[in-house]
Amino acid sequence: MKTIPFFPYADLFKRDEAALTEVMVGVCRRGAYIQQQECRDFDASLAKFMGVKHAFGVANGTDAIIIGLKAVGIGSGDEVIVPSHTYIATAASVHLVGATPVLAECGADHMLDAADVAKRITPKTKAIMPVQINGRTCDMDAMRTVADRHGIMIVEDAAQALGSRFNGQCAGTFGKFGTISFYPAKLLGCFGDGGAIVTNDDEVASRIALLKDHGRNADGRVVAWGYNSRLDNMQAAVLNYKLKSYPQEIERRRSVAARYQAGLGDLAELALPPAPDADSRYFDVYQNYELQADRRDELRAYLDKQGIKTIIQWAGTPVHQFKELGFTVDLPKTDAFFKRCMMLPMNTTLTDDDVDYICDTVVAFYGA
Ligand SMILES: *Cc1c(COP(=O)(O)O)cnc(C)c1O
Repeated sequence: MKTIPFFPYADLFKRDEAALTEVMVGVCRRGAYIQQQECRDFDASLAKFMGVKHAFGVANGTDAIIIGLKAVGIGSGDEVIVPSHTYIATAASVHLVGATPVLAECGADHMLDAADVAKRITPKTKAIMPVQINGRTCDMDAMRTVADRHGIMIVEDAAQALGSRFNGQCAGTFGKFGTISFYPAKLLGCFGDGGAIVTNDDEVASRIALLKDHGRNADGRVVAWGYNSRLDNMQAAVLNYKLKSYPQEIERRRSVAARYQAGLGDLAELALPPAPDADSRYFDVYQNYELQADRRDELRAYLDKQGIKTIIQWAGTPVHQFKELGFTVDLPKTDAFFKRCMMLPMNTTLTDDDVDYICDTVVAFYGA
């Protein structure tokens, strides 16, 4: 029997320990901790990788959303439409800038459903914030049509989608701003917290630059109220190093997804995520491999006994089910999805053998 953790935090370091140690020790030896060359290099490399004009490293992916929303002027009295199938951080960021998160359904591919968004627009709606979840970018043509019809802006939570594309364009670059998370288990993970905001808008960029660093301009003079939300230079150094091999990481994730598709695609009891080559408009990078399964809880218990660790995203609770936060909206499609969804291991330490073992075990469960 194999033991396959859901996410092998330590293995990702051990795999490349000598080089990563050198990167981190190098930062310490120079005492280069806050906003040093590595931060500037990373902002530039990230912008280039995503094909966007400006990128700013910040302390984490949640701060990125809060600062982005502030930078585009969203606040008290405004509504922002977000999917309920997201991390609490998406909705919390909207709340914390003084606006109201309006929760919407996800469609068949787990992404924010443009038709459902259209029904929730009111005169107070200021923005739509699709969440590019599981490494997929939603149908941004459909989203753009809805937004333009009502004259509202798009902003993107692309925490889970670095390098994912729709019609060749990177997640995070479609709207007024987009955000990325470098949480260790994210696609491009650092060794602690980290995040970024990207934008093609010069004015928004200059506001972000102030907001993330105490409102100080390039001369160090305070010209606005700001936060302390800087990406640590140490994390920037790690991210610079890891970004170089990131395209290969994406390719490996896509090949793991293709292998899951080949091993599990025939099972009528499962609804798999779209395969890597299913639709040429989408380039998915598989932050997660989230599927829907009959007898889900039994399947998870069976896999667990066979050494395979799985999880349910957001610990099984979509945002609208957090009644303590005052949500009363009914989202039957999202409720139905969360009765069946789960995630199989998806990371670049998995071998083909591991994936085959997982597939065989799932097939054995339904065959039994
Ligand atoms: C991880 C995540 C965030 C928050 O990122 P942090 O870096 O943990 O603050 C926000 N939205 C989504 C969809 C995420 O997956």
